[in-house]
Amino acid sequence: DAAVAKPKALDATKLSITKTTTPKTPLPSEELVFGRTFTDHMLSVEWTASEGWLDPQINPYQNLSLDPATCVFHYGFECFEGMKAYKDKQGNIRLFRPEMNMTRLNKSSARIALPTFDSAAFIELIAKFCKLEERFIPSTKGYSLYLRPTMIGTQRTLGVGPPGSALLFMIASPVGPYYPTGFKAVSLEATTYAVRAWPGGVGDKKIGANYAPAILPQLQAASRGFHQNLWLFGEEEYVTEVGTMNLFAAIINKETGQKELLTAPLDGTILEGVTRDSVLGLARERLVPEGWHITERKFTMKELADAAEEGRMLEVFGSGTAAIVSPVRKISWRGRMVECGLPEDKEAGPVAQRMKDWIEGIMYGEEEHQWSHKI
Ligand code: PMP
Repeated sequence: DAAVAKPKALDATKLSITKTTTPKTPLPSEELVFGRTFTDHMLSVEWTASEGWLDPQINPYQNLSLDPATCVFHYGFECFEGMKAYKDKQGNIRLFRPEMNMTRLNKSSARIALPTFDSAAFIELIAKFCKLEERFIPSTKGYSLYLRPTMIGTQRTLGVGPPGSALLFMIASPVGPYYPTGFKAVSLEATTYAVRAWPGGVGDKKIGANYAPAILPQLQAASRGFHQNLWLFGEEEYVTEVGTMNLFAAIINKETGQKELLTAPLDGTILEGVTRDSVLGLARERLVPEGWHITERKFTMKELADAAEEGRMLEVFGSGTAAIVSPVRKISWRGRMVECGLPEDKEAGPVAQRMKDWIEGIMYGEEEHQWSHKI
């Protein structure tokens, strides 16, 4: 029926580009602070329920102008992604498993009644954007261009309901290595008084609403000298995630006596980390032949504390896009200090160190791998 046009799908070939007339000089690499400076342009695509995805645009980086009644300001219609573009030795720009970020953004978006989009089309737009902003991607290993795809509900209404319009946009920030002078092991505070996520909730979605409430517990942990919260769940005190990273523990399993690398399962209460999945994949391929058991299972803080007490604790580390891996030295839990197996003069255990080297090697194209997406 020609009278009722079908809402349009996202179409990367319809991209129009308006370049800035006031290009910035990228900061010298050593002056980069995470998320402080941005590139010259931004990518945006508007969506309406009746028309679908409008033509994508790259415009000079600029303020958004939104009516104060816009639903994003009142009911939290916002979700986002965090991913990076890397430059390899040959000068190629590479993304790392971008389809995983797109799948996750679509799941987050659908959960808060925002529209979904074609992942491949948005990856094509990201590629075009990165090429345009190429001079902002540092060429030194460890440096990258952090990409922040974001979707917001833009309908102007205080009525609580599904937004009839949305904006999908992306900004980008050149970033340096998380640990510029090499690993620095962190100390954690196991948090029992505040809960990040719960069964049936939205802890596995990357929505802004999960992040603001985590800041106060983070400040409280910091006031007691800890870098991050270790989020526990339930009376059993299951270990879930750390700050904004997934958590891995390497122990000697009490029953089997075997080396076990364990992480919490994807039960809806933890974010489905791209790095988590990559660590698991590489561990199954490269650590299993060395006798390791790799498990996604529930484990409690008590199990970790017992392992430490009985000399079965090997190492603990967080995993996430920002740092790749972040070694943990100790965890404060119910007035005890659980030591995580790192010798005093070391900042990372062997599994964390090798994981970082493997994953970084793939990200920067030193090892050819299907996870690296050359654009
Ligand atoms: N958990 C949370 C809560 C996060 O915000 C992040 C960062 N996206 C992660 C885990 C790690 O996910 P990824 O490996 O995809 O960066």
